[in-house]
Amino acid sequence: MHISLKQQVALVTGASSGLGAGAARALAAAGAAVVINYNSHAEPAEQLANEIRSAGGQAIAIGADVSKEDQVEHLFAEAIKAFGFLDILVANSGLQKDSPIADMSLADWNTVIEVNLTGQFLCARAALRQFAKQGDRPGVSRAVGKIIHMSSVHQLIPWAGHANYAASKGGVDLLMRSIAQEVGQQRIRVNSIAPGAIRTAINEEATHGAALEKLLKLIPYGRVGDAEDVANAVVWLASDASDYVHGTTLFIDGGMSLYPEFRDNG
Ligand code: NAD
Repeated sequence: MHISLKQQVALVTGASSGLGAGAARALAAAGAAVVINYNSHAEPAEQLANEIRSAGGQAIAIGADVSKEDQVEHLFAEAIKAFGFLDILVANSGLQKDSPIADMSLADWNTVIEVNLTGQFLCARAALRQFAKQGDRPGVSRAVGKIIHMSSVHQLIPWAGHANYAASKGGVDLLMRSIAQEVGQQRIRVNSIAPGAIRTAINEEATHGAALEKLLKLIPYGRVGDAEDVANAVVWLASDASDYVHGTTLFIDGGMSLYPEFRDNG
C-alpha cells in the first residue's frame, strides 16, 4: 500500500506540540502542504514549519484560539489564502482542567468544553463550508474532503476527577457521528481517533516514574504510545487507503479500552 497526499492541503489544530505536531510532520512527509495552527506558542509552530520547508515540503504556522469563532474563521481564511484549497482537517486541539467534581469551577468546566468540543464544531463547520465551496478535486483524492477529530479513550471510559474532559470527548463522538451521517452523501469522510496513553505534555506526570508503572497496568499491549503511533493513523485516515472508512472511531490505545482490570477477575 503506497500512501501519497501530494497536492493535498491539511490543517492541523494545536500543532505546536504533541500529537498535533506529530500529525503535521507525518502529513507533510506524505506530501501534503500543512497549516500548523497554534494557540499561544508561536515559536515551536514556526520552527516546525521551517523544519518541513527545509525538508522540501510546504508549511505555514497560523495562530488562532479554536474556541473563538472569529479566530477560527480567520485561521481558515489565511489557510486558503496561502494554499488555495483544503482537503484534510485534523481537529486536534485539546486540554485538561482536572479536579474532583464537587470542586470543579464553572470556569474550568467551560474552558474544557469550549476548547475540546466547541472548538471541534467550529473547525469542522469551517472545513465543511470550504469543501462545499471548492467541490470535487479529481485526481487529488477520492473524497471531497476529510475530517479527523482527535477524541480520546475517555469518549468511552468514564474518568473520575476529569468529568469535564470525559464529557467533552463523549460529545466529540456524537458530534463526529452526526456530522458523518449528515455529509457522507457529499463524499466527505468524517472519523475520529481515540488515543489511549500517548507520551506528550498533556500527561507528562502520568507517563513517568511510579505513575508509569500504575499506568502500564491499564495497557494490555504493555507500553505507552508515541506521537508517531497516532500520526500513522492520521495519515491513513486522511488518505484514499481508508476511503471506505466513515463515521467511525479508531482507538489507538494498546488495548486500554478492553477493560484490562477484568483480566484476572473472571
Ligand atoms: P498537548 O498539550 O501537547 O497538545 C494540545 C494542543 O492543543 C497544544 O498544542 C495546545 O496549544 C493546543 N490548544 C490548547 N488550547 C487551544 C486553543 N484554545 N486553541 C488552539 N489550540 C489549543 O497534548 P496532546 O497529547 O498532543 O493532545 C492533543 C489532543 O490529543 C488533545 O485533543 C487531547 O485531548 C488528545 N489526547 C491525547 C492523549 C495523550 O495521551 N496524549 C490521549 C487521548 C487524547
